[in-house]
Amino acid sequence: MNIHIDKSKKIPLYRQIAEQIQAQIVSGEIPEGFRFPSERQLADALGVNRTTILNAYKELKADGLMDSHVGRGTTAVRPGSSRPDSGRPDSGRPDRRPYPREPMWEYLFSDYLKHHDNFDVNKYLEIANQKDVISFAAGIASVDTIPAQAFEGIEDQLITGRERLLVSPVTGFYSLRKVICSYMQKRSCFCQPSEIMVLSGSQQGIDLITRAFINPGDVVIIEEPSFFPAIQAFRLAGAKIMAVPMDGDGMNVEILEQLLARYQPKLIYTMPVFHNPCGVSMSMDRRIRLLELAGRYGIPILEDDPYSELYYEAQPMSPLKSMDQDGHVIYLSTCSKTISPGLRLGWMCASRKLISRLSGIRQLTDLHSSCISQQIVERFMGSRDMEHHLAFIRREYRERRDIMIEALNRYAPPGLSWNRPEGGYYLWCRLPEGVPASELTAKAAAEGVAVLPGVPTYLSPQKGDGHIRLNYTYPPKDRIAGGIEILCSAIRPFIAAQKEEEAVTAGEINPIL
Ligand code: PMP
Repeated sequence: MNIHIDKSKKIPLYRQIAEQIQAQIVSGEIPEGFRFPSERQLADALGVNRTTILNAYKELKADGLMDSHVGRGTTAVRPGSSRPDSGRPDSGRPDRRPYPREPMWEYLFSDYLKHHDNFDVNKYLEIANQKDVISFAAGIASVDTIPAQAFEGIEDQLITGRERLLVSPVTGFYSLRKVICSYMQKRSCFCQPSEIMVLSGSQQGIDLITRAFINPGDVVIIEEPSFFPAIQAFRLAGAKIMAVPMDGDGMNVEILEQLLARYQPKLIYTMPVFHNPCGVSMSMDRRIRLLELAGRYGIPILEDDPYSELYYEAQPMSPLKSMDQDGHVIYLSTCSKTISPGLRLGWMCASRKLISRLSGIRQLTDLHSSCISQQIVERFMGSRDMEHHLAFIRREYRERRDIMIEALNRYAPPGLSWNRPEGGYYLWCRLPEGVPASELTAKAAAEGVAVLPGVPTYLSPQKGDGHIRLNYTYPPKDRIAGGIEILCSAIRPFIAAQKEEEAVTAGEINPIL
């Protein structure tokens, strides 16, 4: 019997032990009838508490993989074996299930899932969805800003043109791709329907590009901080991720150049407008340099642009794609931030050749985006209503941003700082020195406010632990200020504890060595 436990994993120790014993019984490594050490012996051997072994054995017994007999100790039972010595008359049915209660997930998972402790966004969304919680954690629109006119009367259209409910081309309906081209044209991107793929959200585009280009060990360059599901997608593919720091003008292109020269990356991932999480937009000089470098080193740029329509001051520069002379830019955008995330509809704009190759991979995931969502978006995006709606949400979100900033001005403890984004969904806050975002997040949630810690947005969690991201589009307008007040009160005890610790260490006398 061979058991390794890893105390740094989130999986409880008794589960780790039970799962390994399960796997060894099923594989035959531990034979039928094998006599297990007593709870105390195994606890001593593994350096764990006796209760841990007790719980592991309890689980294995419940799964029918272990049996205990007075005088014979605890022995292994192979799944499927009948247990002749159960002591009961043969009723024709096994007296316990001869197989585990559920598949041994930990044993079956891929190496990726076994070894990566993923940041679980659902945990934060669950908190955010709880009644009475004020959520600044999610990255979604407000229910009040979903455009009803996009959905009104759509059933008539769907019923009249029923053939369009059956199936769509992998890249999306041609008529929708034409509408997307006109939409892109208004942003100075001139493209053809053959250069568009309709996606089930732009996250799918990140996934497709990753599958298409990244082998384990390939280098991907990201800005730091970055959109954490993109980091996770690159990690899943086994990429070696390298981060370029950002300042108020976007990614540092000098550092980028050094990385390009040294590591021959496969991809540069960037959000040039209203970056998620830090709200920054890339300056024109940096854009020009970035495109020049991508051209010189022959590296594709994945431009992720969900927010550029949501500007609250001057209209931002057109996408990088509009400046792309030789097809280095693969452009992604989405209806999630402007119409509704539930539509699951986004798009990619790239060279015809690439779109055609990607269609082959896309067929293996979801075939094509929802026919219903495509028709809703085609009708709405192609109408004047879309521009009116955009004007409305710009006003609405500007007001919410300002309410949040005003509340921070009023309630923020010393040391808390934040940006004033000119568009997008988020405020990016730097916490006072020594306040850990991960702990603050838990405390704020307990007090009814959900925020997103910066931890997953950096490659090393420590770096992100000094930041939180606050979304102002989702929470009801009249609850934003109250939520900020609660959040700021939750920060204060951490500051007080930090000061106390500093006072204690300042009073310590160091021996003179
Ligand atoms: N990229 C960025 C930068 C985002 O912020 C988001 C949404 N949070 C996405 C991609 C994914 O959006 P979608 O809903 O279209 O998949």
